[in-house]
Amino acid sequence: MNRRIRKVAVLGSGIMGSRIASHFANIGVQVLLLDIVPKELTPAEQSKGLTLESPAVRNRIVNESFQNTLKASPAALYTPDLAENIRLGNFDDNLKEISDYDWVIEAVVERLDVKKALYEKVDAVRRPGTLVSSNTSGIPIHLMAEGRSEDFRKHFCGTHFFNPPRYLRLLEIIPAPDTDPEVVKFLMRYGDLFLGKETVLCKDTPGFIANRLGIYALLQTIRITEALGLTIEEADKLTGPVSGKPKSGTFRLSDVVGLDTTVNVAKNLYASGEKTDESRDGFLLPGIVEKLFEKKWLGDKTGQGFYKKIKDEAGKSVILALDMQSLEYKPAGKVKFETLEATKSIDSLSARLPVLMQGKDKAGEFYRQTFADISRYASFRIPEIADELYRIDQAITTGFGWQLGIFETWDAIGVKKGLEMMEALDHKPAPWVYDMVAAGHDSFYKTEKGNRLYYDIPSKSYLPIPGQEGFLYLRNLSDNIIWKNAGASLYDIGDGILNLEFHSKMNTMGAEVIEGINKGISVAEKDFRGLVIGNEGVEAFSAGANLAMLFMFAIEQEFDEINLVIGQFQKTMMRARYSSIPVVTAPHSLALGGGCELNLHADKVVASAELYMGLVELGVGVIPAGGGTKEMALRCSDLYQKGDPELNILQNAFMNIAQAKVSTSARDAFDMNYLQEKDLIVLNRSRLLAEAKQAAIELAENGYTQPKERSDVKVQGRAGIALFMAGIEQMKLANYITEHDGKIASKLAYVICGGDLSYPQEVSEQYLIDLEREAFLSLCGEKKTLERMQGLLNGGKIPRN
Ligand code: NAD
Repeated sequence: MNRRIRKVAVLGSGIMGSRIASHFANIGVQVLLLDIVPKELTPAEQSKGLTLESPAVRNRIVNESFQNTLKASPAALYTPDLAENIRLGNFDDNLKEISDYDWVIEAVVERLDVKKALYEKVDAVRRPGTLVSSNTSGIPIHLMAEGRSEDFRKHFCGTHFFNPPRYLRLLEIIPAPDTDPEVVKFLMRYGDLFLGKETVLCKDTPGFIANRLGIYALLQTIRITEALGLTIEEADKLTGPVSGKPKSGTFRLSDVVGLDTTVNVAKNLYASGEKTDESRDGFLLPGIVEKLFEKKWLGDKTGQGFYKKIKDEAGKSVILALDMQSLEYKPAGKVKFETLEATKSIDSLSARLPVLMQGKDKAGEFYRQTFADISRYASFRIPEIADELYRIDQAITTGFGWQLGIFETWDAIGVKKGLEMMEALDHKPAPWVYDMVAAGHDSFYKTEKGNRLYYDIPSKSYLPIPGQEGFLYLRNLSDNIIWKNAGASLYDIGDGILNLEFHSKMNTMGAEVIEGINKGISVAEKDFRGLVIGNEGVEAFSAGANLAMLFMFAIEQEFDEINLVIGQFQKTMMRARYSSIPVVTAPHSLALGGGCELNLHADKVVASAELYMGLVELGVGVIPAGGGTKEMALRCSDLYQKGDPELNILQNAFMNIAQAKVSTSARDAFDMNYLQEKDLIVLNRSRLLAEAKQAAIELAENGYTQPKERSDVKVQGRAGIALFMAGIEQMKLANYITEHDGKIASKLAYVICGGDLSYPQEVSEQYLIDLEREAFLSLCGEKKTLERMQGLLNGGKIPRN
């Protein structure tokens, strides 16, 4: 059946319902968001003379929830205008409308009776074939389907989004016994392709996969922290990015989620694990959790939890950490461990983990104990919660933001080494692990001919992870590297396409990366059909030019050197635009400064939906001079023909650069004109490189020919400069910007307007690029610019001088 999703009804507009609705609105689906009708009037409603029949009252709950979601950070919508795709209503007046909807998603309170009562009403009005799914975190799916019509049960499934649904990539799909396999297949694919999720098929077992393991890991980590006498801030440091976990660490994350949520899930998992879970005691609450829960110190929602934010005497916000012994809040202490010192210079997580595990101090002990406990627990969950080990890793990485899953972590440590560690701590894993080792297999995963294989327990052999056909992972292609330096590598990714990967810190663009881009273009021009510039960076496609060398030259006042470096950067960007092969970039997450400019020069950008892109150079005291200012002048010039007042168009571009504005999504980057009609958004980041490769092939097959450099860029000259200068003066007078901000902005105005020309006229790209370089050089001679650069290089605090 060819199923299409045009309209989705979301029932329940709380934390999850409103955000799920927003994510569907993000992809252009029409959404109806419903909630209950209030039973009482508020004093404000009473004083206005409203009644329970007034439309404003009947929709009050849904209105308020949705308004809160619109204010939430991080934003649920790609851009605010997408709210137009969502219509609000209530169950009593609007539920009947779902007869015209393709999918009904329920996200009301976590109570079986409430959900079942609602389904009864849904069953009465839905048309046959409409999908119905629940976002429950833990109520068994088969219980919810009980008593419903056959057609309802065939089309009913669990679809468990994680909070926040726009950003967390996991979508668990949990069929009930009567769910039609066609429906499951459809949801698995729709979640991946349209919603950009990692869809993981789960069994209908308590907590499904991610919460079952994630909450177990969380509680054991807290227990081990207590037992070893570590502080909260120490544990958070150890369970943060250093071990491949999110920045929040364990305790901070609990504060954000809310301890009541964790406690509810833990209690349910304890209660439901009587027969099936040999370690259900792991779901008993650790002492400190019990105490905080009693005191209602639940985290951010109650103003305090494991941490508390206060204002000091000077009115500055200070974060205090709980002392687990005295239950008093104290300033968070500095965290220092020999084990962490020993891994400071190890960039790769897989290389770092074995070193962390060998630490001789408490940190090492902490890592060994948590690893052994969590890995043992995971091994015994097969086949209970999943038949294949990769599903466990997929769920925990995408649901909890871990860089490596449980079995991937074990692989990094070494299966046998891990086993010894676990045995020594009395955490022997499930028998299948011993069988695997006895059969001579020493890893849970391996890579063969670019395919990632997992160890299949029943057949005791390695099988390809299914559903990866649309994906292309550079980490599986190390045999295909044809050239490499310290900052970049070139991969033959097949079908005549070359990929350039950056792997410098935050993928910043220094001399090696620039060499890599030039090399990539040269090699591709000679032996390939096209070049993709894409990487698998966690935080950044590229955080921009590496300022370290420029800063050194600037301090030494070596302007000839700066001129050379900038000139080389500009030439490289122009080569990306003007080469004989198509160049496709695949940006994701951060693409800032030079990282943005590179995309502006690509033949086509295949962008991740989560793209934070901007020309942010003004923040460090310079203007975009890698062709970024030129390119925006050019893009404005191309828009002039469309009829809007020219200076308005130019002003938008000027303001984006002057305010160092960064897009909040790829869609927003379109609005900023950093992405254009020719470019493409991909929802599922795992598909990004494969889609970029496909785009390069298509460009090549459509007869790509090298474009001609432009000499028809219409610039505004003095009229534009005068307009912008007036604005800059006003901003200075009002103290919105500093004197130095004003100086940099005036250089930007000069360049983007094409310099001191007495009337609007057409100029060449090279002319504008030369202006960029001149302005950049002059700013490098400014003390305040150097102070800003130094601030960035010394850990990111840029002075507003
Ligand atoms: P919430 O409390 O924010 O929202 C619940 C909604 O249910 C509210 O809008 C409320 O008006 C509505 N409601 C209350 N009583 C009702 C009734 N009698 N009939 C119909 N609707 C009623 O909850 P939430 O966090 O959005 O959770 C919703 C669902 O999503 C739950 O099943 C929860 O387990 C699940 N979930 C939550 C999270 C999370 O992090 N919050 C994550 C994944 C799944």
